[in-house]
Amino acid sequence: MKSAVYRGEKQVEVTDVPMASLSNPTDALVKVTLSGVCGSDLHIYEGRIPGTEGWGMGHEFVGVVEDVGPEVRRFKKGDRVVSSFFVACGHCHYCIRGWFNQCVQRGAFGYGEFFGALGGAQSEYVTVPLADSTLEAIPDGMNDEQAIFVGDILATGFFAAERAEIKPGDTVAVIGAGPVGLMAIMCAQLFGPARVFVVDMVDSRLEFAQGMGAIPVNAKETHPVEAIKRDTGGFGVDRSIECVGVLTAVETAMQVVKGGGTISMVGIPNHSIGDFPYLDMWQRALTFRAGWCNVQAYMRPLLDLVAAGRLQPESIISHRMKLDQAAAAYRMFDAREATKIVLRP
Ligand SMILES: [Zn+2]
Ligand SMILES: [Zn+2]
Repeated sequence: MKSAVYRGEKQVEVTDVPMASLSNPTDALVKVTLSGVCGSDLHIYEGRIPGTEGWGMGHEFVGVVEDVGPEVRRFKKGDRVVSSFFVACGHCHYCIRGWFNQCVQRGAFGYGEFFGALGGAQSEYVTVPLADSTLEAIPDGMNDEQAIFVGDILATGFFAAERAEIKPGDTVAVIGAGPVGLMAIMCAQLFGPARVFVVDMVDSRLEFAQGMGAIPVNAKETHPVEAIKRDTGGFGVDRSIECVGVLTAVETAMQVVKGGGTISMVGIPNHSIGDFPYLDMWQRALTFRAGWCNVQAYMRPLLDLVAAGRLQPESIISHRMKLDQAAAAYRMFDAREATKIVLRP
């Protein structure tokens, strides 16, 4: 079968690899019908993740169940499914408390030996371990493009907005207008904010975010904290959502909230340790929440919201390409020439 394989810094090759197969009784074999290229794939592409060379890439996908192991209960051959970007067992200490992202058996697709040694989703087929607690059925009438993002970036945007504790009438600032930031804007609006600001440095991204109802702030042209404070009576926003991960963006997210506010961080931090403003957090009674998305807890409600027309995550897709074009897709996405790319085998 064909798969996009990581060959070293900025090198992706679509090549023949051994056919994916069932190896555990809880596995499902899925024929991939659509996969996505994600911002977190770029951490591998840019050479920052050890143990990924020679492994298949990709963790956002939908497909059709081709076969299941004897212990898979929820799915059968022919079911259309969307997958979380990571696997979870569904019955450990953490999973039964709803914290699937802390599962003792967790691992992500397309991250090689670094995280779970699973197959990549930018492939014709992928083996899905722990299928009952990793996959969700796609509702009838929903297409692949509508469903795919509930397994990663849409769930992350929702998780970020929910943890920001947005109340009706609040002002919100979303830091970063990449795919996750756009999803956070979309999801923030479910909670009834009066205004949502979005901070980025790329005009095309800001224009796209503006089309979704956000107020653009270009950090290249203006100091974003000062600009947003000017626009909020000198106070700043009630909630901020950080979707970049660069520590200066986290600092912007902290500075832009008013006293009593909440900062919700979902960007992958680019440094493991930095300065944390303990005194400022304490004096201004701020709440700081961080984490990578607990996807399995959100896939079902998000599919329902998409089915009901309350969310249109597919609207951010800018490029539809063939799996064979994966190398070009990575080059374009890495160069910020595409908002979101999906690949069809
Ligand atoms: Zn991702
Ligand atoms: Zn578990």
